[in-house]
Amino acid sequence: MGLTIDLAAIAANWKALAARAPGARPGAVVKADAYGLGAARVAPALYAAGARHFFVALAAEGRAIRPLLGDDASIFVLSGLMPGQDLTGLIPVLNSAEQFFRDRALRPRGGFAIQLDSGMNRLGMEPAEWAAIRAEALSARTAAGQGPALVMSHLMCADEPGHPANAAQLAAFREMAMGVTAPLSLSATGGILLGADYHFDVTRPGIGLYGGDPFAEARPVVTLALEVIQTRSVAAGEAVGYGCTWTAARPSRIATVAAGYADGLLRALSGKSVPLWAGDRSAPIVGRVSMDLITVDVTDLPDVPAALEILNARQTVDDLAARAGTIGYEILTSLGPRYPRDWRAAE
Ligand SMILES: *Cc1c(COP(=O)(O)O)cnc(C)c1O
Repeated sequence: MGLTIDLAAIAANWKALAARAPGARPGAVVKADAYGLGAARVAPALYAAGARHFFVALAAEGRAIRPLLGDDASIFVLSGLMPGQDLTGLIPVLNSAEQFFRDRALRPRGGFAIQLDSGMNRLGMEPAEWAAIRAEALSARTAAGQGPALVMSHLMCADEPGHPANAAQLAAFREMAMGVTAPLSLSATGGILLGADYHFDVTRPGIGLYGGDPFAEARPVVTLALEVIQTRSVAAGEAVGYGCTWTAARPSRIATVAAGYADGLLRALSGKSVPLWAGDRSAPIVGRVSMDLITVDVTDLPDVPAALEILNARQTVDDLAARAGTIGYEILTSLGPRYPRDWRAAE
């Protein structure tokens, strides 16, 4: 029952992505609570598998995992250094000259990293800004040594291998990083799959670790089983759920399971006959997904199980996302705190 998270599969996916970029050290992106799966469990499992470069979005996320990892693990904070933040033991990814000077005032707290904008226009220094602080950044002395611990950028279309933005960003990053001896990093999951030109020194896989596209060979990581609370018989012509959007065409058995859109099972999944699974048999969602409940037509199942699965090896986060008009990342990070969570240990 609830959400089962396969830490062995996450470690296996990390190793498989590492093998795709053999010249680079593979990092691990564990922002947003490891994409909703529990950074306190996932990050130590990846550390045990060999990861030493961890990426989080916010300082608080970094502080939460710092005591769980060895001192040889670097934790990079992608949002950089915001006023008043304590980054002890963490490495801010400085995104602007303003952040660079704010950080300078706090050094020698520790190392820093630099983010360059190679075209995404979201975070990072543009060429002129970088040119202005580059000499000082590359020669800065920190407790961790000289210069930045990492110089990185991020691709905007890496999940579309043929997109011209990939080559354009690669060229822009190379140009801005020319002569930099610090380790370089450009690729998340999608970039790793674009090939060796994109790998540089450190990779930053996220979604691929958690079983999502575009890493098609990923081992599935999550199983989500929803408890059946009640089963009823419904006569032909009776409606089920809010808005009377589904009416039984035949005498039916309806099972009500304990999860809804408040648990990340998006209301957009309503009316699409999305299957829930009992072993190798499935039964479709009928009527609207409500906040805490989903109704399922189990008429054709031989018996009603104690729970029905909505995510498993048959129906991945990307399958569910496609039905809801979103991406696997959003399904994972929306799963919510109400499920009992069971982490299956890495072997
Ligand atoms: C989220 C993120 C990643 C990981 O991306 P995936 O597509 O999940 O592999 C890597 N780098 C940065 C800067 C990110 O924001």
